Amino acid sequence: MKIIMLGAPGAGKGTQAKLIAEKYNIPHISTGDIFRANIKEGTELGKKAKTYMDKGELVPDELVVDLVVDRVAKDDAKNGYVLDGFPRTIPQAEALDAALAKLGDKVDYAIDVDVPDENIINRMSGRRACVACGGTYHIVHIPTKVEGICDACGGELILRDDDKPETVKKRLDVYHEQTQPLIDYYTEKEILKTVDGTVDMMDVFASIVNILS
Ligand code: ADP
Ligand code: ADP
Ligand code: ZN
Repeated sequence: MKIIMLGAPGAGKGTQAKLIAEKYNIPHISTGDIFRANIKEGTELGKKAKTYMDKGELVPDELVVDLVVDRVAKDDAKNGYVLDGFPRTIPQAEALDAALAKLGDKVDYAIDVDVPDENIINRMSGRRACVACGGTYHIVHIPTKVEGICDACGGELILRDDDKPETVKKRLDVYHEQTQPLIDYYTEKEILKTVDGTVDMMDVFASIVNILS
């Protein structure tokens, strides 16, 4: 099962991707997590990506595409995967389709987690991310057992720099301009599925499971 998660920043793509990956035993591939890991390790890629991420802009396609194409070709991705945060532009989607077509393969589902802009700022200002494992929580909606500490690994939780309201506004503009056109792209391919992302996390997940089974 090859799945793409679509949706605005903060719509809950990562939260749902994680649940999908656990239930169907497939890898969760998040380009945001890959970039943040590179930034933490101080790699060249991390340094380049950071300059864009800090401004709320997209990292250029040429820095993302090969990375994802290589990742989905790995052994553990043979039976499927859930892509979270990729593709984010039409050229990225076309490059993915072309790479998969070469392997006689294709994307099965593009799941759009639909959340209006009004809810996004609240989602993002309350988001807390684990510095150790990348797990995400929300101070009101999805709190941890102990404040500031990751339930999964005991790591420290932080507010991501790019989750501050000024940057979130910019990211929403970028989303509407560059990523939203993917909705039409996957509608035309007849694999788009839309779920209401404003309801409780487990209710969103139930709608997704319903689509996948
Ligand atoms: P969110 O959780 O808000 O959807 P991500 O963690 O997916 O954010 O991405 C954080 C940042 O990383 C983006 O704002 C962008 O700068 C960069 N990024 C992640 N994935 C991509 C991609 N596929 N193409 C370009 N930039 C990306
Ligand atoms: P994305 O990967 O799309 O940027 P996340 O999965 O990181 O989004 O979710 C953004 C924020 O909203 C996080 O703080 C997360 O805990 C919270 N969140 C996710 N799903 C829901 C939901 N259904 N209801 C309320 N808050 C949610
Ligand atoms: Zn953690």
